[in-house]
Amino acid sequence: MSLAPWACDPARTKGRLHAEPAPTLRTDYQRDRDRVIHSSAFRRLEYKTQVFVNHEGDLFRTRLTHSLEVAQIGRTVARSLRLEEDLVEAICLAHDLGHTPFGHAGQDALNACMQGYGGFEHNFQSLRIVDELEDRYAAFSGLNLTFETREGILKHCSEKNARTLGALGERFLARRQPSLEAQLANIADEIAYNNHDVDDGLRSGLITVEQLRATALFARHHDAVLERWPQATPHQQCFETIRRMINELVLDLTNASAAELQAAAPTDVEAVRNAGRALIHFSADVARDNQQLKAFLNHNLYRHHLVYRMTAKAKRTVTELFAALLDDPRLMPPKFSARAAQAQDSNGRARVVADYVAGMTDRYAIDEYERIFVPRRVR
Ligand code: MG
Repeated sequence: MSLAPWACDPARTKGRLHAEPAPTLRTDYQRDRDRVIHSSAFRRLEYKTQVFVNHEGDLFRTRLTHSLEVAQIGRTVARSLRLEEDLVEAICLAHDLGHTPFGHAGQDALNACMQGYGGFEHNFQSLRIVDELEDRYAAFSGLNLTFETREGILKHCSEKNARTLGALGERFLARRQPSLEAQLANIADEIAYNNHDVDDGLRSGLITVEQLRATALFARHHDAVLERWPQATPHQQCFETIRRMINELVLDLTNASAAELQAAAPTDVEAVRNAGRALIHFSADVARDNQQLKAFLNHNLYRHHLVYRMTAKAKRTVTELFAALLDDPRLMPPKFSARAAQAQDSNGRARVVADYVAGMTDRYAIDEYERIFVPRRVR
C-alpha cells in the first residue's frame, strides 16, 4: 500500500546530523529502528521500572515490554492510516530510552538533584542518548538517527533546551506540530500504558475490578464480557475486557484521525507541522473516557500506599547516589570519571553524573548504592 501524501516518506528525509551513504536493502527509517534495537540503552529497558520495580515480580511490564506494546499499537494504526510504519516503530521503540531507574520517581529525584545544573528531562535525555551517549560507531557518537525519528523522540522539551537544538528545537519555540508518525507514537504510548497498568494493577492486587468498574471504558467492556462469557474465570474476564478496551481505543483513534485527515487534507508533512493542532486524536467521547481511566490510575494505582513506599525508597537511592558521585566523580567507572574530569564547569560535571545515574537499571542502581555506601568484607 502506498504512503499517504501527509506521511513521512523515507526518500525525502531531512537526513542525519552526519552524512552517511544510503542504506542498501533498508530504508532510512528501517535503519533507525535497527540501530535503536542494537543499542545498549534499549537492552537496559528490560531492567527499568514502568510502574513496578523490576524485582517486584517477573510478570509486570518493564520499560522494554512497554515499548514493544507501544510499537505494536503504533504500527497497527500507522498501517491503516497509510503512515510510515517503520518510522512509527523506530520512535515507539526509542521513546523511553532516556528514562531513569525507578520510573517517574527516579526522574523526579534526578530532576531535583539537577536543579542548580540545568535540570533533567527524560525526553531530552532520550535524545542525548541517540545523539551523543551511545558509543558504538567509529564515525560519530550516538546513533546518528534521521531528523524525523529524533523529532518523534523529543515529545516535550523546555524552551531553554529547545534553543540548544537548532532545527529540531524550533517547533517548541514556534509552537508547531511534529509529524503524524510522532503524534501517533505519543498516543500509542498512552493506550499501551493505560491498559497494561490496569492489567498489572489487577495482578498486583493494588486495584480491584469493583473499583475499575467506576470508569466508563472498563465498565462497558466488562459488562459485555460478563454477558458473553459468564462461565469464564475472573482472570479471563479481565483480560477479555482489556483486549476489548485496547481494540476500542485503537479503532476510535484510527477512525477519528482518518476523518480529521480527510477534512484537513494537508498537502505534505510541512502542512501537518503547520496545521496549528494535532491531527491524530481520539473522538471527543473516547478522549473523555480515556482521560477518566488515566485519572483513575493516577489516583488509585500510581499513588497507592505500597507504590508510594517504593517510590520514596527509589528517590532516596537516586538522590544519595547523585550527591556522592558529584562530590567525588572518581567513584564512577573510568569512562564517566574521565568525562567528569574534562568537564568545563560544575554544570558539565553534574551532567556527566546525571548521564551515569540515568543510564542505570533498577538493579544496577540498588547494587551501586550498596557498593558505595555499605562497607563489606571481601571474601
Ligand atoms: Mg512510554
